[in-house]
Amino acid sequence: MLKQFMREVSKLLGEERLITDPSDLEAYVRDYWPYLVIKEAKGAKLGPRPKAALLPETEDEVVEIVRLAERERIVLIPYAGGTGVLGGTLGPDQDFVIVDLGRMNWIRWFDEEAGIVDVGPGTLLIELEKWLNDRGKSLRHYPQSLPEAAIGGLVATRSSGQYSTGYGSIENLVKGLNVVIPSIGLLRVPPAPRRSLLYPLKELFIGSEGTLGIITRVYLEAADLPEKSQKISWLCNDFSRSLKVAKVIVRKRVSPELFRVFDNFETQITFGDEGSLSVGIIEGEKDLVESKYEAISRVVKLSGCKLVDSKKADVWLEERFNVIKKIKDLFKVGLAFETIEVSATWGRIVDVYKHVIESLLRLKGVEYTGAHSGHFYGSGAALYFTIVFDVERLDEIYDKIWDVVMETTNEYGGSIGHHHGVGVQRWKWIELEYGDNGIKVMSSIKRALDPNGIMRDLMPFKISRCKK
Ligand SMILES: Cc1cc2nc3c(=O)[nH]c(=O)nc-3n(C[C@H](O)[C@H](O)[C@H](O)COP(=O)(O)OP(=O)(O)OC[C@H]3O[C@@H](n4cnc5c(N)ncnc54)[C@H](O)[C@@H]3O)c2cc1C
Repeated sequence: MLKQFMREVSKLLGEERLITDPSDLEAYVRDYWPYLVIKEAKGAKLGPRPKAALLPETEDEVVEIVRLAERERIVLIPYAGGTGVLGGTLGPDQDFVIVDLGRMNWIRWFDEEAGIVDVGPGTLLIELEKWLNDRGKSLRHYPQSLPEAAIGGLVATRSSGQYSTGYGSIENLVKGLNVVIPSIGLLRVPPAPRRSLLYPLKELFIGSEGTLGIITRVYLEAADLPEKSQKISWLCNDFSRSLKVAKVIVRKRVSPELFRVFDNFETQITFGDEGSLSVGIIEGEKDLVESKYEAISRVVKLSGCKLVDSKKADVWLEERFNVIKKIKDLFKVGLAFETIEVSATWGRIVDVYKHVIESLLRLKGVEYTGAHSGHFYGSGAALYFTIVFDVERLDEIYDKIWDVVMETTNEYGGSIGHHHGVGVQRWKWIELEYGDNGIKVMSSIKRALDPNGIMRDLMPFKISRCKK
């Protein structure tokens, strides 16, 4: 079956776009899942390895690849920027083939008046952003992986960026998409501002993580570049006070477009200050920016917090895309870190935060941990935990860290995943949130669209590991 598949894709793509050399296939052996990054740095030989990587350039080629894979029962793993942090581009133990979408990297206007661009799934976000900026527009989708992440992966993981509070996350920017589905073929969801037509087909694939098909085209809505941009920073005594202030600001609808609140630990580490720092960038039309600035300042003063030099934000703004360097620096001193993001409503968020931190610090091998919130909603916010641990205890401690964050978040009423997706790591806990029937619905969708399981397995580790 594999031989036949390879013969036919070689005819379709030519030798140059069919990678089989093991040393070239090294590039696909992991994404940025910290567990594997650490394993590799410690000298482990990673696997399983793909049999080949295919480099399609057109949607028609992807349709043909999926048709052949379905016929020959070959597992396909889509690969965009490779910056996923939960192992989503890893293959199963059986033979599998990577579909690297890097050459499907076109950018063109679909509708210039509407600001809707037609983008290939392999387009690097940073290239798209430059292209838009040259035309007076911006996506304002700035995940910290901005330099390396690509559109297909960002959509497939339901990603969220630093300006999400003002501009929304990827699901708010995707106005249409095309996807090749194993049991069906090409599905086109044309761009529209919004629709009400029975099942939300577009949404099904935003966050589907390569389990239901391959996204081949995305229509994204860009915003006009803002007329004015104004930084603002303030300091509260503690994180729970900062979150209360954030709630008032968001509920009054005067929130900064970029809004980030650090707990006391992260404030100390990043800025060298005592207390809990909030930083924001307010953007838009000049008068609006000024009135929002005034409104936020009033809320801050009334709450007993104090405005500080708005340049505070620069420390973090300058460093924000240097995460990979930080990982390497920590590793040199025998430490590594994991980041886990969850969310909670306003009434629960402080409990989730406190109990997760307390439980993590009780784990032997966890050196320190802190959190921030960077995505705000009328009803609540995301919490992003950074957990620094002794690299020598990786195997002993890694799942325990996840257990603590997932189970404590669930126990105190939070939601166990905000924007990194599931990959091969978070499946174990999904049932906690959705229950048995949620898993049944997911399995039914998977069986209907991918009956022969040629896309990534839905539950690599099944939920049993969750019930130990
Ligand atoms: C330093 C760093 C900072 C990060 N910061 C953020 C952040 O701020 N916000 C955030 O949301 N995430 C962040 N991430 C996580 C990561 O960047 C996102 O998950 C991103 O969306 C992955 O995009 P990618 O192109 O790299 O996808 P990949 O890693 O290539 O793929 C991710 C998943 O999507 C699937 N996939 C890829 N392309 C397609 C396609 N065309 N069709 C169907 N499935 C597909 C893959 O099979 C895989 O399951 C960060 C990661 C790093 C390393």
